[in-house]
Amino acid sequence: MKPKSNDLPESVTCLSLDQFTEWMKEMGHPTFRAKQIFEWLYQHRAGEYSEMTNLSIGLREALVSSAPLFSSKVNTTQHSSDGTIKILIQLHDGEKVETVMIPEGKRRTVCVSSQVGCGMGCVFCASGLYGMKRQLSAGEIIEQVLHIRRAMESEERVSNIVFMGMGEPLANYSNLDLSIRAFQAEWGCGIGKRHMTVSTVGLLTRAKKLAEDHPQVTLAISLHGPNDKIRNQVVPTIPHITVNDLIVAAREFFEETHRKPTFEYCMIGNLNSAKEHARELAFRLRGLECYVNLIPLNPVDEIPLDEPTRDDVNAFAAILREQGIEVAIRKRRGADIDAACGQLKLKADSQGFFERDAVKS
Ligand code: SAH
Repeated sequence: MKPKSNDLPESVTCLSLDQFTEWMKEMGHPTFRAKQIFEWLYQHRAGEYSEMTNLSIGLREALVSSAPLFSSKVNTTQHSSDGTIKILIQLHDGEKVETVMIPEGKRRTVCVSSQVGCGMGCVFCASGLYGMKRQLSAGEIIEQVLHIRRAMESEERVSNIVFMGMGEPLANYSNLDLSIRAFQAEWGCGIGKRHMTVSTVGLLTRAKKLAEDHPQVTLAISLHGPNDKIRNQVVPTIPHITVNDLIVAAREFFEETHRKPTFEYCMIGNLNSAKEHARELAFRLRGLECYVNLIPLNPVDEIPLDEPTRDDVNAFAAILREQGIEVAIRKRRGADIDAACGQLKLKADSQGFFERDAVKS
């Protein structure tokens, strides 16, 4: 939606408040209405113009056809026994993406998708099984948070955003950038950038740009191996990015932003989870300002990889901690609704469904 006369907007969520105000003006509507509509959308969680009771019926009717609020809709909502919520969103062209909300104490973290599918092909990840279908627009990224908020209790507010759903966010930079702005804006979700994390498999030029554009956003780098040989087995699509490149990038990120980046490490049994791997990693990360997030593999039906044992995970963490490295072990949340880390995929998509069954039989 461009703020030009008579352009049929894709959705209001694609626009900043300034752009929407301009569009309202060009369409001959009172401009103060733009702010009211944004308040309904972002503060009061409205899903339709009919809920915006302080707008005249005439204006509401005019806007329904000329300025749709959303371009996507919720297809299904699942609630996990641990409080995690997962929604499947249907996009205007029939594609689908998943979004998850994870409660933890007072935190309410939303894990958003940035692409339909993913092109990075990490061997353990469900999102990449069918490749990357297309980029999400900024509006489609923003709508994920607006949709999932409507499934939350009214007194709960989204406190954190992590770009760790389907897709590689740095491969969709301009829309990532716009969505971060809307998540943060006073007219938008009002979430501090310090409460946002962008996870990348290692698109380092873009990571540098992110640190310049949004120095308060936390960077997470998916590492998955202590050396190039193992990393390239796990992340086969970008062999030119070495483990050393990732470590240098993490150091530069800290120097530039004074914020510690996180290394994510998906632990796969019999591949990257042995004590020798932990020792090699500890040696390479010693003295670096960073956190390490160990994510025990969440099994995916189609992917024949082993889970690490509890002992593997604890021993790995202990070796890193002995070297003074701050380590967290990611808890598995929402597993009963396939919402656990890395399980997001296009299961409901008919093509995906048949391929899935074909693999099984
Ligand atoms: N493309 C980005 C962001 C999406 S993935 C990236 O690679 O960082 C975010 C995290 O999900 C990754 O760190 C990965 O470790 C984790 N993940 C994906 N599939 C997983 C699985 N099956 N089990 C455990 N973690 C997984």
